Amino acid sequence: MLSNSLIEADREHLLHPLSSFRGHEREGVRVMASAKGAWLTDREGHRLLDGFAGLWCVNAGYGHESIVEAAAEQMRRLPYATGYFDLGSEPAIKLAEALAERAPGDLDHVYFTLGGSDAVDSTIRFIRYYNHARGTPERDQFISLEQGFHGSSTAGAGLTALKGFHTGFGVPYEWQHKIPSHYLYRNPVGSDPETVIAASVAALTAKVDEIGKDRVAAFYAEPIQGSGGVLVPPPGWMKAMAQTCRELGILFVADEVITGFGRTGPLFACEEEGVVPDFMTVAKGLTAGYAPLGAVFMADHVYQTIADGAGDVAIGHGYTYSGHPVSTAVGLEVLKLYEGGLLDNGRRAGKRLMAGLESLGEHPLVGDVRGRGMLAAIELVTDKGAKTPLPAAAEAGKRVFDRAYKNGLIVRAFAQGVIGFAPPLCCSDEEIDEIVARTRRVLDETL
Ligand code: PLP
Repeated sequence: MLSNSLIEADREHLLHPLSSFRGHEREGVRVMASAKGAWLTDREGHRLLDGFAGLWCVNAGYGHESIVEAAAEQMRRLPYATGYFDLGSEPAIKLAEALAERAPGDLDHVYFTLGGSDAVDSTIRFIRYYNHARGTPERDQFISLEQGFHGSSTAGAGLTALKGFHTGFGVPYEWQHKIPSHYLYRNPVGSDPETVIAASVAALTAKVDEIGKDRVAAFYAEPIQGSGGVLVPPPGWMKAMAQTCRELGILFVADEVITGFGRTGPLFACEEEGVVPDFMTVAKGLTAGYAPLGAVFMADHVYQTIADGAGDVAIGHGYTYSGHPVSTAVGLEVLKLYEGGLLDNGRRAGKRLMAGLESLGEHPLVGDVRGRGMLAAIELVTDKGAKTPLPAAAEAGKRVFDRAYKNGLIVRAFAQGVIGFAPPLCCSDEEIDEIVARTRRVLDETL
């Protein structure tokens, strides 16, 4: 049994991200105690199949001794080395090299952060710096998508469109603008791929015209919008948007914090359409959640412009833990696992997951099934024809999460009545089938 003193200590002292203070006082905490493979065990001994890989990050599954060993060995040898002042450490250099070799096109330069939010934040800073370096400092406006999530830092939260990240914090910055999402299931232009792509291209072009052609610095997009409800664009969407950015003379930033590292099949989702962005942000799967680490990939042409513009002047942006040796040693080991069979297993399991979820499409509550690879969602409705959302969808989402938990399954219940799936890439066929079977039980109980 979970000791009451632990629950009380949590209530009294630990502030939980994305939880309401009063709600948390009322509901208390569910403490995870241990984990192995795709399974978690909570402090009360319940076994839970993790259909969400922690927070879309534990791609390798839990309890990999080789990762634990890589971290321990690095801690023994050199637990910390700054990357400041032209100092460095072996794992940070080796991981940067390995990532650059595998990244699309000329994304040859890697800047390590602590996670995804500060990776996105760093791109904003670098893009501002880039435009100063090339003599166009007035290009200081940024565009992103409705339903997009780009982290929770002060600046990045403004690129994020989800209202929950703005409510109570004041209006996001006036230099951050939004255009409609491709959201195929609920797009006012319909779901025909070509029409949806044309509408997104037209919206970006119109927004740049509205702001001023010489004012816009960059457009940000996730290859699949994750926290917005796993919104998968039609094939060709990202390529068309990247091409439009080129034509408009603005930078394209692909935020692969969720989609990177095999989540959708290839190492990076950009590869699927042969897209080479000017910046790419990653985190989560980079260390499979075993240590905090994020990264910004910078294209060579951006790097050269900044390097020429700055000359010998140091760029005033960096963190104490940039390129942390332990996190980067973990990243190197995780990369070995991806290439040693994890990516292949994820691709196989992803097909089975999609087929399984599609079989739920007949369920009276399921309006839409969508996803790619090991990233998927089902959207719940009360009337399929009218696509009527669940009443009080946020509360319904919480009920779905609680029912799933009782059924020994962790999923993500999004506010709008969407259930998200992002299992570890190591899942066996039986585990994937179990995720689908348990989800069916949850739906039946929700009716
Ligand atoms: N960008 C995207 C697309 C994300 O999904 C997330 C987190 O879920 C972030 C950025 C922020 O990453 P972090 O939570 O590591 O700061």
